[in-house]
Amino acid sequence: MTTTADPPRVQTRATIELRRPASLSEAVGELQAGGTALAGGTWIMRAAHRDEAFDAVYVALDRIAELRAVQERDGAVALGALLTHDELAAYDGSPALGALATAAARSAFPAIRSTATLGGNIGAVGFAEADLVPALLALGASVELVSPQGESTASLETYLASRGQRPAGELIARVVVPTPAGASSAFERLTVLGGGEYSVANLALSVTLQDGVVRAARVAVGSVEEVARLCPAAAEALVGERLDAAVAERAGKVAAQECTGREGLDAPGWYRLAVLPALLRRATSRLIEEAS
Ligand SMILES: Cc1cc2nc3c(=O)[nH]c(=O)nc-3n(C[C@H](O)[C@H](O)[C@H](O)COP(=O)(O)OP(=O)(O)OC[C@H]3O[C@@H](n4cnc5c(N)ncnc54)[C@H](O)[C@@H]3O)c2cc1C
Repeated sequence: MTTTADPPRVQTRATIELRRPASLSEAVGELQAGGTALAGGTWIMRAAHRDEAFDAVYVALDRIAELRAVQERDGAVALGALLTHDELAAYDGSPALGALATAAARSAFPAIRSTATLGGNIGAVGFAEADLVPALLALGASVELVSPQGESTASLETYLASRGQRPAGELIARVVVPTPAGASSAFERLTVLGGGEYSVANLALSVTLQDGVVRAARVAVGSVEEVARLCPAAAEALVGERLDAAVAERAGKVAAQECTGREGLDAPGWYRLAVLPALLRRATSRLIEEAS
């Protein structure tokens, strides 16, 4: 037994500055000057749990109305980065977006879902368990970025691969999700207690069917590796097939072969892989149910 209090594990700051710009261009300026974007703050506020120090300056995005906008475009929807999980769950858009709505609705807990944002879910480096990210990968999403150099677009895969080294001052403004006619999608997650806690593994499936046969498919998994990823061989195993439980399980086994399971306190790596066939089967059942 120790008689003195343990020293704090992370250095605390005497003051943290908060800036609240009213426009995107002002926000970009504040970020370029060294601030860190603050959206819902549900990841940032837990920095100490991760043994990370808080930053000196945060740039709150909450006054920038255009970051909350939803723009329906030709064959796609552009979702503002500041939309919350609750707002995404409630968005009544194309059936192609089913995986995103389910991921948003089933992630975390009510208080978190009302605050945590789309941009924050993508921007949280080191958050293997993020639920929105695999859904967005399966839907073929891209991110629209603003920076001191202007606007640019990147596929979500490219953005995730370079997240740690993005240029200073850059912000995700919108996430553009294709909504092709005939596409539908589903999301499944597994947790230790079966509630809103972090996923041990999660999986999203997007398909385009013609006469009941899969013409195009995308499968993405999260929480299995350090960063969510697509599983192209699993998707290929579905193309040309009629969707049913056996086909889905087979494709889920292919997904498990494509991935490397991440070791963690909640689950060992092998377990995250072992549950993928069941998750793909459940996602498939959901799509079959919705189609009938
Ligand atoms: C108890 C608890 C349980 C949770 N469980 C889950 C869960 O099961 N599943 C799940 O998905 N989430 C869960 N979360 C929420 C998780 O923190 C959020 O989903 C999300 O990752 C953070 O969103 P935020 O808006 O709060 O981001 P913030 O904390 O504000 O920011 C997160 C990171 O993203 C950056 N960022 C924010 N916005 C942008 C932007 N527009 N452009 C670029 N970078 C940006 C920030 O600088 C920061 O680095 C949980 C949170 C808590 C506290």
